Amino acid sequence: MQKNVIEDVFGTKVFNDEVMQEYLPKKTYAALKSTMENGEELTRDVANVVAHAMKEWALKNGATHYTHWFQPMTGVTAEKHDSFLSAESDARAVLEFSGKELVKGEPDASSFPSGGLRATFEARGYTAWDCTSPAFLREDAIGTVLCIPTAFCSYTGEALDKKTPLLRSMEAISKQAVRVLRLFGDEETQNVSCSVGPEQEYFLIDRDQYLKRDDLIFTGRTLFGSMPPKGQELDDHYFGSIRERQASFMKELNIELWKLGILSKTQHNEVAPAQHEMAPIYSTANIATDHNQLVMETMKKVARRHNLECLLHEKPFAGVNGSGKHDNWSLVTDTGKNLLSPGSAPYDNKQFLLFLTAVIAAVDDHAALLRMSASNPGNDHRLGANEAPPAIISIFLGEQLEDIVEQILATGTATHSNKGEKMDIGVQTIPPIRKDATDRNRTSPFAFTGNKFEFRMVASSMSIAGANTVLNATVADVLEKMADQLEKADDFDKAVDELICSTLKEHQKVIFNGNGYSDEWIAEAEKRGLPNVRTMVDATASLTNEKTIAMFERQHVFSRTELESRAEINYEAYAKAINIEAKTMIKMASKQYIPSVISYVTSLAESINSISSACADADLSVQKTLLTKCSSLLAEAQKALDALKEADAKAAGMVEGKEQAEFFRDTVFKAMADLRAPIDTLEDLVDKDYWPVPAYGDMLFEV
Ligand code: ADP
Ligand code: MG
Repeated sequence: MQKNVIEDVFGTKVFNDEVMQEYLPKKTYAALKSTMENGEELTRDVANVVAHAMKEWALKNGATHYTHWFQPMTGVTAEKHDSFLSAESDARAVLEFSGKELVKGEPDASSFPSGGLRATFEARGYTAWDCTSPAFLREDAIGTVLCIPTAFCSYTGEALDKKTPLLRSMEAISKQAVRVLRLFGDEETQNVSCSVGPEQEYFLIDRDQYLKRDDLIFTGRTLFGSMPPKGQELDDHYFGSIRERQASFMKELNIELWKLGILSKTQHNEVAPAQHEMAPIYSTANIATDHNQLVMETMKKVARRHNLECLLHEKPFAGVNGSGKHDNWSLVTDTGKNLLSPGSAPYDNKQFLLFLTAVIAAVDDHAALLRMSASNPGNDHRLGANEAPPAIISIFLGEQLEDIVEQILATGTATHSNKGEKMDIGVQTIPPIRKDATDRNRTSPFAFTGNKFEFRMVASSMSIAGANTVLNATVADVLEKMADQLEKADDFDKAVDELICSTLKEHQKVIFNGNGYSDEWIAEAEKRGLPNVRTMVDATASLTNEKTIAMFERQHVFSRTELESRAEINYEAYAKAINIEAKTMIKMASKQYIPSVISYVTSLAESINSISSACADADLSVQKTLLTKCSSLLAEAQKALDALKEADAKAAGMVEGKEQAEFFRDTVFKAMADLRAPIDTLEDLVDKDYWPVPAYGDMLFEV
């Protein structure tokens, strides 16, 4: 029987469980599994056998090189390839790969952002094999490379990457969740992992158009551009039928992802023209994070094969929706139970209510930190702009849970829960359907969606590691306090009820079921004392306040020094991003827009001169009005350009850090807007033939 393409390709490039069973002696397999599942130390002997098996498998599949694949603080993945060729080989090629090479790598770390953790003369950094995320083969023009997921740390053991803290946070939450489960009589569960399903939004535009725009090339977003007559107002793109060119991209993307064992599941058109989404089936946070990095990389690669460019920036086009990443998050036991699943009688499911309450408390306690974990310079354009959640963190629970919370707050316990009713849509031939107990709310940044939370703030181009690290660590911290308290209780049932009630009382202010896009909510949130952190630069302060430091240190996720370095990296990253944007605007305005407008006004002037010499009483009002308007906008643009140059030069000359980042945000960013305005107005006045770059309409609709 012919196999379906999914069965045919799925996981073929992954050193997965099936391959391990085939290539590893039983004893080695068992030892490796126990390291993966229980964190037992891996011996050198086991590492050697695994390395040999990995090499055999990789060579059989055509690999010539291997690489430690890691996630430094740049936000993108890093790799340095080594061929399997051994030093002893001379007459004939000897291919080797040892346990030592598998377990540890030593890339020169001096050129990665470290936020002062490492002086350049202390360049040592280590990559260490993360056996909980499977090795895989990457095939492209370079050939086939065996990629080994690794953590990246400094000579003194500090994390220099996004994976290490994530792994630490997963251990923290597992430990505390198991403690709580024991109190509820669960003796079976050994491990609790967080399940994560990141939905990825992206834009696809024609690559020829893309290559004509320096702003897209250098910054990932358009820095100029006036709105076309049509945007997204007709809602005709959302879930619309997918056009051939994009469809062939999606088809190939799926195949490439399936090969890598990525559970690509859902695909559809998104709200903005040229915008789409891909959602995988959830997996463990660590694997989901690695996979999401691969998803973004594969999207870019496959797009180019179709002469398309995939834009992952949060706001590629002003005036239409930008992209985000919905981080669906839950807790699952190694026995397969979802701890955030309410069951059929949530009011009576104390274990569920306790975990739910823990999440509510964690989110409320560390709202600004959570906001920070979703922040990058691009996301500042989206959050709070009526297309994405507001910058205020609140939790949507839905009617069913909201009702239970109200009962608990009023009387100490809940006695009933609303059920989803049967729905009648008034058509006999359509089978009756049961509706969920709760409707959805798209305006909430942190929504309970049935058996998981959906954190909707995360930036589309960003690693999801940070957001999940914060979620895991903060919830672990609350669970720890809860477990401490409950372990001491004489009457457990009573203590649980009291704890749920008192925690809800303390944190109910973060629960909000209404419209998160409304102005009333902003005022109401302020009354409730919820932080409204508008920018990434403001959010960064939450990394180094004493409350955050104490929480992360208690959970062994970050040390004070690591947090301070991450704050530095944030400020630098922000300043650098805005500096590149400013320099790109300066270049485009000086080399493209201003010269083009000069050519255009010159042609107008020439036309006026030649017409009036041919016919003295011809009506030249149109040309003259245009000439005057364009010339004055041109002068305005030149003035704004000079101001931007001055502001940017001043900012670039400042010492790196918070103050510099703030100057970029308050002064340079504003100067950029001042330059954009006259040029966008000119775009609507100047003859299209003179306009030096593709317009929004060309890029968004002609794909
Ligand atoms: P929606 O339109 O409701 O956002 P999608 O299907 O686009 O739904 O995405 C839902 C995402 O949530 C998927 O990635 C899915 O795998 C993930 N998900 C479902 N259940 C869980 C869970 N228990 N833990 C984490 N993620 C989950
Ligand atoms: Mg979705």
